[in-house]
Amino acid sequence: MKRHTILQRLTISVIFAVISMFFICGEAGAKVNIVTSIPDFASIAGEIGGDKVDVLSLAKGYQDPHFVDAKPIYVTRLNRADILVYNGLDLEVGWLPVLITGARNSNISTLNSEGNVDASVFITNILDLPTGPIDRSMGDVHPRGNPHYMLDPRNGIPVAKGIAAKLSEVDPENASYYEVNYEKFATLLNLKIKEWDEELAPYKGTEIVSYHKNLEYLSDWAGFKEVGFVEPKPGIPPTPSHVADLIKKMKSMDVKLVIASNYYPQKTGSLIADQTGAVFLSIPTQVEGQDGINTYIDLFDAIVGEITAALKDKTGAANHSLLDTDG
Ligand SMILES: [Zn+2]
Repeated sequence: MKRHTILQRLTISVIFAVISMFFICGEAGAKVNIVTSIPDFASIAGEIGGDKVDVLSLAKGYQDPHFVDAKPIYVTRLNRADILVYNGLDLEVGWLPVLITGARNSNISTLNSEGNVDASVFITNILDLPTGPIDRSMGDVHPRGNPHYMLDPRNGIPVAKGIAAKLSEVDPENASYYEVNYEKFATLLNLKIKEWDEELAPYKGTEIVSYHKNLEYLSDWAGFKEVGFVEPKPGIPPTPSHVADLIKKMKSMDVKLVIASNYYPQKTGSLIADQTGAVFLSIPTQVEGQDGINTYIDLFDAIVGEITAALKDKTGAANHSLLDTDG
């Protein structure tokens, strides 16, 4: 039997120690794995978690968040998640529960799991709350209140705070890091909200028609009045009789703007605008919903920019034609 020399033994010991240290350090430096249902949460979680987290959104920003293909790869992603952040209020009810079940991950599997984060619990002003019994039979995809609360930028703040608190709970060593990042994010978002408020101020009271009932929070914040919807009920495609009624109503009220999220069919909204002399606007309504929209703040820069540009044009055009008629 060959005997190891002292030098060989020493070398083996050193190699073993180095390998052990690599694994120990690797464990200590492991990032928190966050999966989100929609990209708005991924963007915010990324800002709060910085280099301490890996973040991934299942749905893309150009997809209708009510209807997402439950791809098998999503199960694998959820299986490895420490934290799952989702919208709740049944927004993802058609696709997320089946993926959570398939993932068999006790971190996120039930409402009581530590990493299961329903972000709607951070929101205090849920709109369209049902007054009677919940009934999906009419096709309404908002049976538990309007789930599109991320379209009010003021709601980004409690959501960011909730995510920071959850990260501190799951990864207490870095709690102060998450707290600092939350403060930075909230300060910047509050500044931007003031800026957007000023840009929108001249258009308060503007009557709009939207495709789906997903701009209620945006309108609530911006001071727009939603006077109609291209869909007869949330989730139900437009019918000819509903469209005819809507056109009649818009003409009588002189509605100047029809807005649709860019993941909805554009044809009907654009036709309605043509027939009523309104402007049709297809806008991104989620992070990554359009090239260049990489953060929650980018999203509202784009939304506010596109809406105010359209209204400015429309108001300008209306004044101009009035002058022409007078002359
Ligand atoms: Zn909806």
